[in-house]
Amino acid sequence: MRHMDEASSDQGGRTAGLNPGQRAAVEHRGGPVLVLAGAGTGKTRVITHRVASLLDEGIPPWRILAVTFTNRAAGEMRERIEGLCEADHNTREIWVGTFHSICARILRQHGTPVGLSNRFSIYDSADQQSVMRKVLEGLNVSPKMYTPRGVLGILDKAKNRGYGPEDLEKLDLQDPVLSIARKAYEAYQARLRAADAADFGDLLLQAVRLLRAARKTSTQGQLGDLDPVARLLTRFDHVVVDEFQDTNPIQAELVDLLSSDAELCVVGDDDQAIYGWRGADVDQILLFGDRHRGTEIVKLEQNYRSTTHILSCADAVIRKNRGRLGKTLWSELGPGEPVRVLMLRDERDEARLVANEARAAIDEGVDPPSIAIFYRTHAQSRVIEDELRRAGISCRIVGGVAFYERLEVKDVLSYLSVLLNPHSDVHLARVVNRPARKIGNTTVTRLANRATEEGVSLWTAMANPEAAGLAAAAVRRIREFVAMIGELQAFVDEVPLPDLLAEVVERTGYAAALAVEESDESHARLENLQELSGNLIEFTEERPEAKLSDYLELVSLVGGERSEGDKERAVTMMTVHSAKGLEFERVYLTGMEERVFPHSRVLDDPVQMEEERRLAYVAVTRAKRHLTLTMCQRRMLYGQTQVGSPSRFVLDLPAEATDQVGRAVTRSPRVASPRQAPVRKGPAWQNDIVYDESPDAPFTDEELGDAVEEGEGVHLFIGMHLRHKAWGEGELVGWHGSGRSLKLQIKFPGRGLKTVVASFVQPV
Ligand code: ATP
Ligand code: MG
Repeated sequence: MRHMDEASSDQGGRTAGLNPGQRAAVEHRGGPVLVLAGAGTGKTRVITHRVASLLDEGIPPWRILAVTFTNRAAGEMRERIEGLCEADHNTREIWVGTFHSICARILRQHGTPVGLSNRFSIYDSADQQSVMRKVLEGLNVSPKMYTPRGVLGILDKAKNRGYGPEDLEKLDLQDPVLSIARKAYEAYQARLRAADAADFGDLLLQAVRLLRAARKTSTQGQLGDLDPVARLLTRFDHVVVDEFQDTNPIQAELVDLLSSDAELCVVGDDDQAIYGWRGADVDQILLFGDRHRGTEIVKLEQNYRSTTHILSCADAVIRKNRGRLGKTLWSELGPGEPVRVLMLRDERDEARLVANEARAAIDEGVDPPSIAIFYRTHAQSRVIEDELRRAGISCRIVGGVAFYERLEVKDVLSYLSVLLNPHSDVHLARVVNRPARKIGNTTVTRLANRATEEGVSLWTAMANPEAAGLAAAAVRRIREFVAMIGELQAFVDEVPLPDLLAEVVERTGYAAALAVEESDESHARLENLQELSGNLIEFTEERPEAKLSDYLELVSLVGGERSEGDKERAVTMMTVHSAKGLEFERVYLTGMEERVFPHSRVLDDPVQMEEERRLAYVAVTRAKRHLTLTMCQRRMLYGQTQVGSPSRFVLDLPAEATDQVGRAVTRSPRVASPRQAPVRKGPAWQNDIVYDESPDAPFTDEELGDAVEEGEGVHLFIGMHLRHKAWGEGELVGWHGSGRSLKLQIKFPGRGLKTVVASFVQPV
């Protein structure tokens, strides 16, 4: 809906609805522009308006490249540009995408020199690990000392910096790690090459290699114009990049290569650099002006997103970081309501509170997609998801254990990958005996050994099964399998994708095998396959011209997102990392405890702690009007109960911007027992937060029960479940008084609202 507003506010030219700074960035021509500004100041808006205004000036859409951080952002960007331009321009021809999707596109067209066909597969981290495991086995190194994940971490670092195996010593590695990593890197790349596959790091590295080589030939004046890759160097007149603070060196090099002949506009915020752990380097943006002569630097200070209470909380969190440029943000939206901070008993209560409040808001007419629930790690999401379901709220979960990772979905997607690229060993090995067709491990191992000896793919080895020394029966089964894949391949790009899927599920015997099983589980799996089919139908409707390779690319690059219930009316659940760039009316930031957020892993590392603080800043600045932070006294996470103390980020929040209701909620009944007494000194409201740091003194349910009778020690919250002797279980909707005169308002199903003296009820 946002782009509609922007379009309609756009009277009197493209630059209406922009402040002077934004307008300067949109209109600047003739040299590079850098917009370096805080959250919600309209950086992304500058990008969309700039593209729209370029189109108006007559720049052909295919000469514009827009790089976004996520695929979702790419979709939104395209929509917004379309909204601004209405039907004036063919915006489909603009190259909009993430670094990965743009590189994949370049490699599909021009990847032959780096060994990739136009049907190459993209390996995700599970695929990578399975390749690396084989590599390490082949090198005879102990998987205990060198885990596939660990070695892949080194490779990833190298690739993010643009290093091949020969450059590994630049990473400061010592022998024996260095020489093992080098051998592993070489062997791993050889396997990927035989499989016609690229991992995420390769997408960037190989595309950059192609472009580097093309630039060399074109500057030598040889054949430059005939080389289609060299033409990419000069293809774009304008390149715009959002979220530039999170680019790594190889991505920055890619931008430089593709903007050889183009005007460059990058936007970002050093305070929102949150991908250092993945090799991003905030210097890319800080030193941009030094690297690009004549850069026009634009600063923006007006925040159009959030109320001032939210902004002052954001500022209080980020201000503690050293080594930042430091920016002021102001907003005309007024103070708004204070930011609420709530302390709850455990993660179940936390989830229930969020679900109940969301339910109440939706019942009052709030649009569910304007509500978002954030957490630091995916592990926290399950309980929240449960409670939302209980409250009958649809939710969209971004990332996490994704739909695409479910066994049957992955199997069928592997079949589709094999049809496109049978040389992808990971996918072929996955499906060769699924459903069971008596092609056992010994058979596959023999074929795989043969393939390794010859330096070919498993599929090539299958073409000649006798050579691997297989018994007659095994030879026959392999031939049948190869023939079946061949038959299915004939459908690729000939029938619509949903039909292709149907053929796969049918001819491979996958559906039949599940149908025979007749268990709850097999029913669920069949349902998931139907959902996958629905997914493909939707995809084909949105992109009628798209091919199988486009679909598989989308799946591997976008990764997980799944919805429970009605997608259009769903609240969003996501990690703070994936919330970057987005905004919501109402935000619940859950798990605000030490060791959760900040994450336990960063506690001893000042550099990582600064990144964690930036992450908290990102989280807080997503909220437009309503922001609630929740924390728990104890939390079950990763199968262990831990006792929580408030996150240092919560303790940094200014008293005047935080909530009085939260204070009532957390204050009422105070803890009486000295054993549970620690109450931290701090701004006024913090004195009222009751929490417990000593691990030997968690509340037991009995204690809590007694406490209600005495009106002490229990943390009341709206939506809490309480039991009354006569009326049964009800939900707390409010209260007044304190101590012995504490009265609770409770809604009992079928009995309506009752006011009850606290001592008559027990928490459930
Ligand atoms: P982030 O740092 O979180 O990525 P951003 O700087 O990219 O934020 P935008 O998302 O572009 O900020 O803008 C934030 C909100 O403010 C959006 O809803 C946008 O439409 C609105 N906005 C930006 N500039 C203006 C303006 N000049 N007039 C009215 N609304 C604006
Ligand atoms: Mg933005």
